Amino acid sequence: MSSAAGAADQRPKVRDDVALIAGYHSPQLDVAVRLNTNEAPEGPPDAFRQRLAEAIGTIDWHRYPDRGATALRAAIARTEGVDASQTFVANGSNEVLQTLVLAYGGTGRTVLTAEPTYALHSHIARVCGTGVAAIDRNDDFSLDVERYCDEIAALRPAIVFLCSPNNPTGMVESSATVESVLRATEAVGGILVVDEAYGQFAPWSALALVSDQHPLVVTRTYSKTWSMAAARLGYLCGPSWIVEELDKVVLPYHLDAAKQAAGVIALDYLDEMRSRVASLVEERGRMSARLSAMALQQWPSGANFILFRPTAVDGDAVWQALVDRSILVRNCSSWPGLDGCLRVTLGTPEENDLFCNALDEILEVS
Ligand SMILES: *Cc1c(COP(=O)(O)O)cnc(C)c1O
Repeated sequence: MSSAAGAADQRPKVRDDVALIAGYHSPQLDVAVRLNTNEAPEGPPDAFRQRLAEAIGTIDWHRYPDRGATALRAAIARTEGVDASQTFVANGSNEVLQTLVLAYGGTGRTVLTAEPTYALHSHIARVCGTGVAAIDRNDDFSLDVERYCDEIAALRPAIVFLCSPNNPTGMVESSATVESVLRATEAVGGILVVDEAYGQFAPWSALALVSDQHPLVVTRTYSKTWSMAAARLGYLCGPSWIVEELDKVVLPYHLDAAKQAAGVIALDYLDEMRSRVASLVEERGRMSARLSAMALQQWPSGANFILFRPTAVDGDAVWQALVDRSILVRNCSSWPGLDGCLRVTLGTPEENDLFCNALDEILEVS
């Protein structure tokens, strides 16, 4: 074989649009205090682990899993107050979003976002060959609802995204906002996706608006409030006629049997989840009060993280100084619209103290 095929200019060319995409990067550094990916600081209850181990012992490993994830969808439907036919489950809510874009996006179609927001919304659309349009949020990261609705009317996007609470700003959209955006989206034949990865931290949920009458889907995940990021499990609640299309598009048997069992058993510990969420909300208040005494700007959060911007020191420098103290937060300082910003996930009270003490020290000496 000639060696020419190994030369960079001889290699097969990736799709032109994929060549333009930057990869999704979230560094996984080996540090003592990891507050960078909005995971829960503690795992699910021991009883969950025991029951899951037993359930895994009874799996028919030589058979494909239940393709329709019937038990899991029924359990999610009971928990969220919808019909099982109005639920769709996949490997993380990112795969739920990808399936939505595969089914309703594609060539000649557009998704609309309000930036800054969760980077995966536009990233997944690009990977799926879908056009991406965006409006900028106001300076305080609130949404100019009228402008968003005007843009929807003008662009007629196939999919409109809202993220509430919004990652990485923490802001919760009001029900009036979601209803206005839904009306505008419905008027142009689009689907409104409300990403509620942090929904249980917020004072209200768009789940109450889900029905077969409106093109609204609400996505949720086991990764955050359910303390199960390792499982890669997410779902949506939405009209059954949308779910039917997603079932056509997703790969057959995409959810393995162990994951389906984990998802069902986890939901039996709803009270435990709610009490973990309540503790984190309390920690959020405590952390926010401590931050308010430091030289930084912070934004009110309805989630398990807080976005802040040091006022006198460069965001990159603060991020590095925290890493030097074995504390990892998310460095958003070079993201569009987030100049100098960092995002800290709420950890255990001890981790939060370590972070606050370190940050205080860094901002004080500089
Ligand atoms: C963390 C997060 C998700 C979760 O993704 P999974 O694939 O379910 O882990 C989805 N949306 C937002 C806004 C998030 O922050």
